[in-house]
Amino acid sequence: MEKTQVKKQSMHATVLNQFNKTAAIMHLNENIRKILCISNNEITVNFPVKMDDGNVEIFTGYRVQHNNALGPYKGGLRYHNTVDVDAARALAMWMTWKTSLAGLPFGGAKGGIEIDPRDYSISELERITRRFTYALGENIGPDHDIPAPDVNTNAQTMAWIADTYMSTIPSSERSQNKHIVTGKPIGIGGLEGRDRATGFGVYISAKLFLDTKGERLDGKTFIVQGFGNVGYWAAYFMIQDGAKFIGVQDAHASLYKEEGINIEALAEHCKPRKGSIEGFPEAVNIDATDFFNINCDIIIPAALGNQITAENAPRITASLILEGANGPIDQEGEEILLENGITIIPDIYCNSGGVIASYFEWLQNKNGELWSRKTVLKKLEKKLTENFKNIHNEVNNSDLDWRSAAYLIAISRIETAYEQRGIFP
Ligand code: GLU
Repeated sequence: MEKTQVKKQSMHATVLNQFNKTAAIMHLNENIRKILCISNNEITVNFPVKMDDGNVEIFTGYRVQHNNALGPYKGGLRYHNTVDVDAARALAMWMTWKTSLAGLPFGGAKGGIEIDPRDYSISELERITRRFTYALGENIGPDHDIPAPDVNTNAQTMAWIADTYMSTIPSSERSQNKHIVTGKPIGIGGLEGRDRATGFGVYISAKLFLDTKGERLDGKTFIVQGFGNVGYWAAYFMIQDGAKFIGVQDAHASLYKEEGINIEALAEHCKPRKGSIEGFPEAVNIDATDFFNINCDIIIPAALGNQITAENAPRITASLILEGANGPIDQEGEEILLENGITIIPDIYCNSGGVIASYFEWLQNKNGELWSRKTVLKKLEKKLTENFKNIHNEVNNSDLDWRSAAYLIAISRIETAYEQRGIFP
């Protein structure tokens, strides 16, 4: 384990490499390249929280605001022990490309706290979240920087952030500021369907890509790394469309079942085990290092960054990879996959259903509207389809892989914004 960790490329190196590759292809204006290479703001906060046993623990939280040329900073907050400035910097940059590619009036940000939430009680997590929000202070705001859920954070986390934020602003402004975070519970301004939006988007990418080949999901086999919100909902929608869910992996176990895993039985199994798939009796345990080698049609990495590398990429036999996670493939891994003719639908498109739904939630709150789940999923599918067509056209008209084509569209829009507004002073 230790050995693999050391060898892993930094996530920031991965995203910078992807950016520079496209910048060269599109002859990006050098001044704009310089601006986009670095973050606008990198906020680190250290804050004390009283634990259940009465002792005080100090936590470190981050919010990196990469770029806001297209609108307010937008992106999630993750609670994980891999969170540090490098990770937040990389993830914030990915958000800038993602919101631009999606055609949203947002920039990119990301942050979080370096903790394993399973080490804390619910009331400790609530106090950690509230104190983190307080420490961030005016660095976040409904029209300035709008957080959302990410790895190990959810609607409950967003509710604590919203309540803490509201409690610290003048009471006359509280009711108009619901859009301080997205991904909230429905009762406090959350969007119907936001919970499944990212997974739904992963499924839509599969469907749209297969359409271009005249193929269908029905009968295709797939495996998922990560059985959190994205992994679960992606698998759920794929199964509904006839695909067979034959493998799943998390930090504790790797499972295989040729006849197809019963997703609801697996979800029930995870509930009392803090979300872990370990010990699920209806599938066979396999070695973690063999997981991506399972003979299947589609792989959905929906966990953390840098999971597909030069070590496991050469043995991958699937023909399609859908990046549910942010940055799951490192540079060397990607080169091998492309060399082997494997199509990668890149994160900045593939998992953009989440932030597109966040945009809907933000609009719903700003306009005092309430949208039904049916409306949300319909609008989401329409937006994802339009965005897919743009990338597909770029792939067809150039000789680019899907990631480079997506980057080209995203970066061009930001380049135009800088060209039009100029650089102050
Ligand atoms: N955390 C999600 C992402 O990486 C959603 C971000 C958002 O909705 O702001 O795209």
